[in-house]
Amino acid sequence: MIFKEIAEGAQGLISSYAMSLRHVFRRPITEQYPEYKRQLPERSRARIILTRSPDGDERCVACYLCSGACPVDCISMESGIREDGRRYAPWFRINFARCIYCGLCEEACPTLAIQLTPDFEFSQNDPLKMVYEKEDLLVDHGGKDPDYDFYEHAGVSERSDKGTHRKEQAPVDVKSNLP
Ligand code: SF4
Ligand code: SF4
Repeated sequence: MIFKEIAEGAQGLISSYAMSLRHVFRRPITEQYPEYKRQLPERSRARIILTRSPDGDERCVACYLCSGACPVDCISMESGIREDGRRYAPWFRINFARCIYCGLCEEACPTLAIQLTPDFEFSQNDPLKMVYEKEDLLVDHGGKDPDYDFYEHAGVSERSDKGTHRKEQAPVDVKSNLP
């Protein structure tokens, strides 16, 4: 039994020395950042943006789901209603000094408004400069899913009648169910 344990220990030692030895003769992989910038995967999580629908309108409907999902409470906003009945955020703020880039806000958002991007080069020494307002966050494109329009799926009647959205059935006339 003891010989078996000694043999296993020796095998572990030899294999780890062999691995180290192999790497001694390998060419080092050193990326000279910032001269060389690696192309990050599209789903990398860094700077957050607020995107727009295909018609150019703001996607955010100020539903507070992202701020509710955020584990560090770094999203705040106010909700308002426009004259056409559509909800929007008169102001929207993210404190990037607290953000941990977990992506939960993006997962929670029903309109695909809030999205994380691979852009990580925006660090600051002054934490107050890491507080981004709506005008800093709002972009003029749709981000990862430019064709998505919440109001084509939502079942709300601000832009289309109920029953006319994609994959939506016409509302049931409750009086037709009466005995
Ligand atoms: S990425 Fe995470 S921590 Fe940052 S704002 Fe979104 S939910 Fe909050
Ligand atoms: S970004 Fe999305 S989840 Fe957050 S308030 Fe706007 S619509 Fe709701």
